[in-house]
Amino acid sequence: MAEIIIKNRKLPVIVDGFGALVKRLPANHLKQEVFKERINSINAGFGGEERLDHLMRYFEPEYPYLIIQDLSISTNVEFQVDTVLLTQSCVILLEVKNLSGRLRFTVNPSGLHQTKASGEERGYPSPLVQAEVIKWKFESVLKSLDFTLPVHAFLVIAYPNQIVVDTPPGSVIWSADEVMIRLHNFNMPSEQISEFEMHQLGQRLLSIASEFNPFPLASKYGIKPSEIGKGVYCPSCKIIKMERCKRSWHCPECKLISSDAHHEAIREWFKLIKPSISAAECKDFLELEHLSTARNILKNPLYKRVGNNKMRRYYREVQAGIHEK
Ligand SMILES: [Zn+2]
Repeated sequence: MAEIIIKNRKLPVIVDGFGALVKRLPANHLKQEVFKERINSINAGFGGEERLDHLMRYFEPEYPYLIIQDLSISTNVEFQVDTVLLTQSCVILLEVKNLSGRLRFTVNPSGLHQTKASGEERGYPSPLVQAEVIKWKFESVLKSLDFTLPVHAFLVIAYPNQIVVDTPPGSVIWSADEVMIRLHNFNMPSEQISEFEMHQLGQRLLSIASEFNPFPLASKYGIKPSEIGKGVYCPSCKIIKMERCKRSWHCPECKLISSDAHHEAIREWFKLIKPSISAAECKDFLELEHLSTARNILKNPLYKRVGNNKMRRYYREVQAGIHEK
């Protein structure tokens, strides 16, 4: 049987980048809290989306369908949608929200007001409006692909402990627990495309899907490279810097010895500072004594060399094609 989930959800890569910032910025840096909060909110959002995936495991309608988890499009329109259900009759978009506490919808203007258990209050753009905007954008993408299918978008609340009040009249919000039943009972319009065309549409959507590359983060968040801590951190203790000794790294805390902990540090350089690194920058960032050690470290299939001699720079192998000029 053909695969029904044609794209699986993955934790957004930006979380690793924020993690590297939290690790390498001074503990009292003004933006520490911002990045920690971003990590928590992305993890919470991802957890909510995974919960929906889990609850939809037994979704087995009688009609053929396809699922795309986490679709990002940036063509003439830009949007991201958590779950796309493609059928021969229509497209159903599910936008998952996982915000803890009491969620109150406001109108004129539209918004969402969150009151956390701690009493902390926060305002957000209305996810109902967001879902409506995504629906329009999805319709425009379908049109550009020469497909005519009705599109429906629903807001899904991930956890039952999210208390939703003052839902605007006429709006429909599903709980993740009821999504299966709602979908089963959904009044499917008549078929508009063949099963073959549905698969074609799925592949065309994947072909225009864009993996968002958020790196490097420092310049985007107003962080100077000089603020970012240097060195190679222990892969076990995480926050402890290792010492270079006899061609390997030693952790003064847990005594771990690693021969290749520097690669993680170089990956973090790419995520935070620049998409490429020179041997001199590598020597400085890893706090090495000799330039030749940096050259040896970079002489690895993980990195692609571009340019000659003094102008030589190294890229992450997978990114090399993108940045090479
Ligand atoms: Zn350690």
